[in-house]
Amino acid sequence: MSKLSIPFGLDPEGTKTPIEEAQRKSDYYRCPECGEFLTPRIGTQRQYFAHKQGVLEDISCSLSSDEGVEKMIEDLRTSDIEEGERERSIRTYLGQRHDGGIELFGIVPSLDWDQIQEDEDVDTLLENVEIEATGITHPPVPSNFHPSEAEVTLDLDPTADSYELQISGPDALGSITGTWTTSGLQHGDLFVGDETRAQRYNSDHQVRKDMWVYLVSKNPPKSEVSFVDVYDFADVSLVGFRASEKTEPFLDRYGGGLSTENYGFDADVVLPAHTNPTVEAPLYAPPEEPVLVGVTPSEEVDPIFEVVSIPKDANETVEIDRTGAGNPRYYTTEIPSDGSRRVSIHQRNSDRHRLIHLHPSEESTFIDATEPESRRIGIEIQDEEHRDFLSPIEGPSSKRMPVGFNPHLLHTNLEYVGPEDLELEVIATFAEGASLGPTISRDVTAISDIISEVIHWVESGCNELEIRFNGIGAVSICFPQGEQ
Ligand SMILES: [Zn+2]
Repeated sequence: MSKLSIPFGLDPEGTKTPIEEAQRKSDYYRCPECGEFLTPRIGTQRQYFAHKQGVLEDISCSLSSDEGVEKMIEDLRTSDIEEGERERSIRTYLGQRHDGGIELFGIVPSLDWDQIQEDEDVDTLLENVEIEATGITHPPVPSNFHPSEAEVTLDLDPTADSYELQISGPDALGSITGTWTTSGLQHGDLFVGDETRAQRYNSDHQVRKDMWVYLVSKNPPKSEVSFVDVYDFADVSLVGFRASEKTEPFLDRYGGGLSTENYGFDADVVLPAHTNPTVEAPLYAPPEEPVLVGVTPSEEVDPIFEVVSIPKDANETVEIDRTGAGNPRYYTTEIPSDGSRRVSIHQRNSDRHRLIHLHPSEESTFIDATEPESRRIGIEIQDEEHRDFLSPIEGPSSKRMPVGFNPHLLHTNLEYVGPEDLELEVIATFAEGASLGPTISRDVTAISDIISEVIHWVESGCNELEIRFNGIGAVSICFPQGEQ
């Protein structure tokens, strides 16, 4: 039996639809390779697209073999970021500066430690690098590419027709050498992200509600359109607005290929300090600080998400456990101790990717302003003597309360620490012969809502309280019952 399963089909608009999001429609989805109709087979055990019966008798399609399908699934894992870097394309951004002015800038990657052989000295290698730039106001110098830098920012002259950054140097620096290019601002260009960092997309990009959009326009709308800001920028006009229901018709009219439908999923950095979820800017935090990324699919779908390295072959691809349709799931990692780490959260069977870029920084301005509490997740619990912090990410994750502990103290001694509105499952296990049990469970978003009930459970023979942090992990508290 073949395990053949075409990962996505094209709907009549040509939108790639992962099998998990397909509707039971015949003569609707088409094969991305041969263009013939596909039939979505949606069973409880397996879901897959197959060529409509008879189609393959007349034509041949690369997706009719396991190898062809596997190659497509593997190709989908390569993030748009990696692909762009392979093609030596300068990622291009518009953003508002602190003083309110707008700037156009480019991003190219710095070196990764992984790419430098152990017997090579990176400073010596960089001394042999030569850089030539066109259209770039302050060209970078070789040391900007050192692995201790998260990325390299290029100030782009907004009146230039095109930009070029020629980097030549030793073979060992092959990940950055070559000619990096991008084109100048053009009428119709779309930039999506947030006000300080919006990236230019060529076409067919999904925008999420609340994302900031800049549209380059020669004939901007009249100022009475209240939900847009119009800026004069170099020799063009920029229309800036936040994507919402209100701007939907506006997006239809001006934003070719940009749509709020089919956005797919969110990947938000929950810990440490909350960063803007719509931006793939580097996240700076102290080395080895735990990082928690929440991944939320669209309602009603439960796709598989995987963590893919950038570049893809640098590390194994890791699958994130499913948590049910529409539910958030979590990926835990940490800030690297030295140099950047970039991963892409990828929805399998789709080309949707979200970049997470972690970079160590001892004196991070991003976290200074944040309470240490907002960088942790867990339960704080106190007995007569000790106050402990139980963490579902890094130990300890359990505590045994002293014999004779007065459960009424839990009102003040048990406290949840972490992001608001995280779903918790509280499971009480009871001693044999207790009047309640053997187990009781509750789903809550605030542990204080059920603390009186928890106290009643402990009084009624509960000997273990487990608190599950949806998709992240669990902590437990033991209450010795009637033991001496
Ligand atoms: Zn086909």
